[in-house]
Amino acid sequence: MNRGKSKTTSTASEPVWNLEAMYATPADWERDFARIEPLTRNFAAFRGRLAESPAVLRDAIAADDEASRVGEKVFCYAHMRSDEDTSNSANRARVDRVESLFASLSELSAWFDPEVMAIPDPVMKCFLDAPELSLYRRSLIELLRDKPHTLSEPEERLIGSFSESLGMPDKVFGILTDSDMDFGFIHDENGKRRKLTHANYSGFLESSDREVRRRAFRKLHGTYRKFENTLAATLDGEVKLHNTEARVRHYGSALESALSGDNIDPSVYRNLINTVHDNLGGFYKYMDLRKQILKLDRLDMYDMFCPLLPGCRREYSFEEAAKMVRQALAPLGAQYVRDLEQAFAQRWVDVPQRRGKRSGAYSGGCFDSYPYLLLNFNHTLNDVFTLAHELGHSMHSFYSKRTQPYHYADYSIFVAEVASTTNELLLSHHLLASTEDRDLRAHLLGNLANEIRSTIFRQTMFAEFELAVHESSAAGVPLTPDFLCEKYASLNRLYYGPGVEADPLVAQEWSRIPHFYYNFYVYKYATGMSAAIRLAENLLSGDQAKREAYLKFLQAGDSKDPLDIMRDAGVDLATPEPVDAALRFFECTVNELETLLLS
Ligand SMILES: [Zn+2]
Repeated sequence: MNRGKSKTTSTASEPVWNLEAMYATPADWERDFARIEPLTRNFAAFRGRLAESPAVLRDAIAADDEASRVGEKVFCYAHMRSDEDTSNSANRARVDRVESLFASLSELSAWFDPEVMAIPDPVMKCFLDAPELSLYRRSLIELLRDKPHTLSEPEERLIGSFSESLGMPDKVFGILTDSDMDFGFIHDENGKRRKLTHANYSGFLESSDREVRRRAFRKLHGTYRKFENTLAATLDGEVKLHNTEARVRHYGSALESALSGDNIDPSVYRNLINTVHDNLGGFYKYMDLRKQILKLDRLDMYDMFCPLLPGCRREYSFEEAAKMVRQALAPLGAQYVRDLEQAFAQRWVDVPQRRGKRSGAYSGGCFDSYPYLLLNFNHTLNDVFTLAHELGHSMHSFYSKRTQPYHYADYSIFVAEVASTTNELLLSHHLLASTEDRDLRAHLLGNLANEIRSTIFRQTMFAEFELAVHESSAAGVPLTPDFLCEKYASLNRLYYGPGVEADPLVAQEWSRIPHFYYNFYVYKYATGMSAAIRLAENLLSGDQAKREAYLKFLQAGDSKDPLDIMRDAGVDLATPEPVDAALRFFECTVNELETLLLS
């Protein structure tokens, strides 16, 4: 417990990350920076030669990897240094130099994929069986999967020449909503007039003063409504782009095209939506429970984020947080816990908040560095969860890098949030198992329920909306503001159920979600959390075979397709079962919360 200790005293001794382990001096960084261009030119020298022999193709890929590996280290260091103090211009200059170098060298690498695809099929078939290429076989097969969807070279060049223009819907959306939109002022709990921004909106929605929540919600969505024609046009442009690209590349649909990168069948996406539909009853129950505990006559959309009980105000020192996380992760086995110690002993973690430091938290690093973590540790329980989450990413990177060659060490986005969420679930379980304190238990269960609400239910609703607008547009339905609002409001009614009487302005919410420009991305949040719920349960069962399977997943990097990696770990996401089980776990959590607070 750290209450009463001033923040300045407690942060003074908190560790900062050891970036010197990457480059001891700026001169060392400069030396690697200077290697990037010659290494890229070595790779480019293979242009026109790939079909010569398996050995030449192997050497070309190895040369590409060597250049990328140094480039990533140089890039990572520049970014992490800059994140330590974003106002430092020498740090910023380093980032700018790397980025402009990469831009100038991009021409030297663009030839590779088309040249591989141009190798005639019978020749490639022999290449794939050649021992020289055994290491790269998987990545070549992945690349060749795109062959039926790749156009002739002049056609590809033509499409490529439009690439900047094709990014405009998303760019205009970003500029309008981040720079030009002004949400004005609202009055906070103390009657103080405060400027409303994207950054402080969620803070207002967590207010225990309902009037403040309502004002923030109405002000934000009311502002979006004023721009609905423009925002419908940018979304329409983006959706048409996805649909057109899928058509010219011979995919059956935009969904099929977007999922093909991870080799995922569209049925996985549709199963997710159907399974959530089948379990909405449990979600409606949670809505009723919120209404009762918050003592409201009607529950609105702005009542979803405020804590169910007055805040859990205990403060935690970083040492305490680290100890809690170590204990919580014990189900991962003695070796994991020993390996985890390196995060502290080698100073992977940048802990304290300080002026100029980038906000938020992330896990970063590259193949030739520690899997660093940036935090802005503020001593709340939430910060302890963030530590567990980011350590989940870092340990995943640690094991993948140690087990896989550079070529396969980076895991895909599809599995990226699984290890981090599993760690959070283990922490939640550990704290629930070790406290009788009613308020803390309610706080933990409430957080868990809300996390599943926002990650599985809400993201699936987004995924369903995304699919509906793509299919409607492909069928010739114009994406007008009225159509989009009506579609969104009807899905919101379906997902939140009869217990929620939503402010009509919720119909406008589609217009502010940047993820709708990411091309079928959000469903991965829902599948990732469902997988994590199953895997945490496996780890807590104490079954050693299940633990081994989990540790294999952490080591797998990108050595297989994501669904295969998940299946080996113990979750078959090709079936609806894991999502169904996750939603039953949600119901149990809600029931427990109900027993605790209403009995
Ligand atoms: Zn994460």
